[in-house]
Amino acid sequence: MKTNKVVIIGSGPAGYTAAIYAARANLSPVLFEGFMSGGSPGGQLMTTTDVENYPGFPDGVMGPVLMDLFRRQAERFGTKIFSEDVEWVDLSRRPFLVHGASREVEAHALIIATGATAKRLDIEGAGDGEFWQKGVSACAVCDGAAPIFRNKALFVIGGGDSAVEEAIFLTKYASRVYIVHRRDELRASKIMAERALKHPKIEILWNSAIDKVMGDQIVGSVLLKNLQNGSSKEMEAGGVFFAIGHQPNTAFLNGQIATNEVGYITVEAGSSRTSVTGVFACGDVQDPTYRQAITAAGSGCMAALDAERWLSEEGIE
Ligand SMILES: Cc1cc2nc3c(=O)[nH]c(=O)nc-3n(C[C@H](O)[C@H](O)[C@H](O)COP(=O)(O)OP(=O)(O)OC[C@H]3O[C@@H](n4cnc5c(N)ncnc54)[C@H](O)[C@@H]3O)c2cc1C
Repeated sequence: MKTNKVVIIGSGPAGYTAAIYAARANLSPVLFEGFMSGGSPGGQLMTTTDVENYPGFPDGVMGPVLMDLFRRQAERFGTKIFSEDVEWVDLSRRPFLVHGASREVEAHALIIATGATAKRLDIEGAGDGEFWQKGVSACAVCDGAAPIFRNKALFVIGGGDSAVEEAIFLTKYASRVYIVHRRDELRASKIMAERALKHPKIEILWNSAIDKVMGDQIVGSVLLKNLQNGSSKEMEAGGVFFAIGHQPNTAFLNGQIATNEVGYITVEAGSSRTSVTGVFACGDVQDPTYRQAITAAGSGCMAALDAERWLSEEGIE
């Protein structure tokens, strides 16, 4: 079995950036781009249209086009890409063992860039092929500024800090923002809850759930259900945003690396070093805060540089 200096798992902005840097440092990286687990090859941006906030593209760029450019740049410097999932890894041995769907490889250093998946609810009309990405989103910072949301009533589903943050962000564009919450009290911290309650553009719809998303080409209204008395009413809507958390894609690690209480890989502050020496993490899988393409790419660069320095300290050139 071939032992590689660096194996990268994941092909979003973080994984490809790590690959570009590792390849240019002559580390001959191998990258598992994924197939079914945790999204698709190319990562989350493959599921979106215009990316308006990635620097270098003043007119915006389509998500899949951007990811194709990342991939080509990684390949140009010699990254070897395997189009399959990693099913498990063994971090108890050196070199590490990486078990893919159809092959096993060894790695002196491992970079984990498997992203996080936004949680969504199974609401009629909100799914793929329905109004998902046609007014239904899971990222206000990514999509909120799009013209379809301007001066419209927007609905944020959730009750934690991120729901409040997303709602406050959307007030810049919306005519009104409704936070739809199943209970009669927010889970958000006291200070965030107060900001939501005091905000003149935000209204909290307590004990409520969206039963159905409706519209023509894009979202036009929602069917709102009162969970206390069972009544329903239709409300005009320009958009629906899920803000119910993310699931970091770490199942294949089988608990071998430390994570926080909701599953994000923990890294040493200011670095990409994980709890296992020689294993580095970058992108959304270790980032509960920013979760943007540019921050994922930046941390991918950090992971490759950290891996390169560690390999050199270990005398693995
Ligand atoms: C609909 C949508 C729109 C967005 N719009 C924007 C935007 O406009 N601007 C912006 O900055 N950000 C946007 N984001 C956020 C952005 O996409 C993410 O922050 C970014 O993609 C994170 O990059 P990443 O490399 O960490 O992970 P991801 O992009 O999630 O990539 C993870 C990769 O890991 C692979 N993988 C997972 N598990 C395995 C496994 N077991 N084996 C092998 N491979 C595996 C996946 O196949 C995938 O290739 C958007 C997100 C979504 C969902």
